[in-house]
Amino acid sequence: MEILTKFKNLAELTTYFPDDQSCREYLELMRWNGAPSCPHCSNEQAYKFADGKSYKCKACRKKFTVTVGTIFEDTHVGLRKWFMAIYIFTSHKKGISSVQLGKDIGITQKSAWHLLHRIRHAFGITEPETLEGEVEIDETYIGGKAKNMHKKARAKKVQGRGASGKTAVLGMVERNGRIYVKPVDSTNAKTLQSEIRERVEEGSQIFTDEFPAYRGLEGDYAHDTINHSVGNYVNGIIHTNAIESHWSLLKRGIYGIYHQVSEKHLHRYCTEFGFRHNTRKSSEVDRFDSLLTFCDGRLMYKTLISKKSKLEA
Ligand SMILES: [Zn+2]
Repeated sequence: MEILTKFKNLAELTTYFPDDQSCREYLELMRWNGAPSCPHCSNEQAYKFADGKSYKCKACRKKFTVTVGTIFEDTHVGLRKWFMAIYIFTSHKKGISSVQLGKDIGITQKSAWHLLHRIRHAFGITEPETLEGEVEIDETYIGGKAKNMHKKARAKKVQGRGASGKTAVLGMVERNGRIYVKPVDSTNAKTLQSEIRERVEEGSQIFTDEFPAYRGLEGDYAHDTINHSVGNYVNGIIHTNAIESHWSLLKRGIYGIYHQVSEKHLHRYCTEFGFRHNTRKSSEVDRFDSLLTFCDGRLMYKTLISKKSKLEA
């Protein structure tokens, strides 16, 4: 398939991809770039079947299609609807609820919920492995009302820094650069500092507030702290404004669009808003293409719904 003029909006996308087969060919182009790669043994030579989608590996002799091992594997939703969902989801600045997406593309809320989580899963593949330069670090707390919880669960959750029933989330952002955000089990020094050391390049300049759990990073980083407790929010270059504005975006998204998010799925919402930040300078089409390039890793519906998690909006 030849790439001619690309789509610039959802209406053009539906013209550009008139059916599932055109989507399949495009996906093959994005993932394989002309050489079908066997998902079983990575060999790049295969026989193509006449059905237009199946291949047989010349090395291991196993059959495959372009969707094996990807977020598109074994779903009942056609690729054309998937493409619309990806376009809508990656181009909306604030995300979209499964109720709304279901209505927009004509699938059930349950299917839309699953699609969105699989797409978030793919966002995770593009997360930065290391951050460097000037990095702001902070933690925040999301979700839950402790008073409605069972005593035991509540005791387990209510720990760390003034976080009644909420889940702690750690964020690290390069000034004018990339971000990495993830939920953490605890906000003690051991947990936070091992996350930071794993993600932030040694020798970087880091900025935090005066929270004691950040004490002790001076050995590996140039570390400046801002003292929020005395009403000091900016002291020259010493501030955490970038990570704090991300917190307000994330919270507005989670409470405003998704209404509630269970702890079990919170990391995927963190990834979703991180992806938006990290691709903020890309065009809609580039974001769409990059998602197709990094669509590896299926996420089974039964994994998503295991352990009494509730379906969220
Ligand atoms: Zn093979």
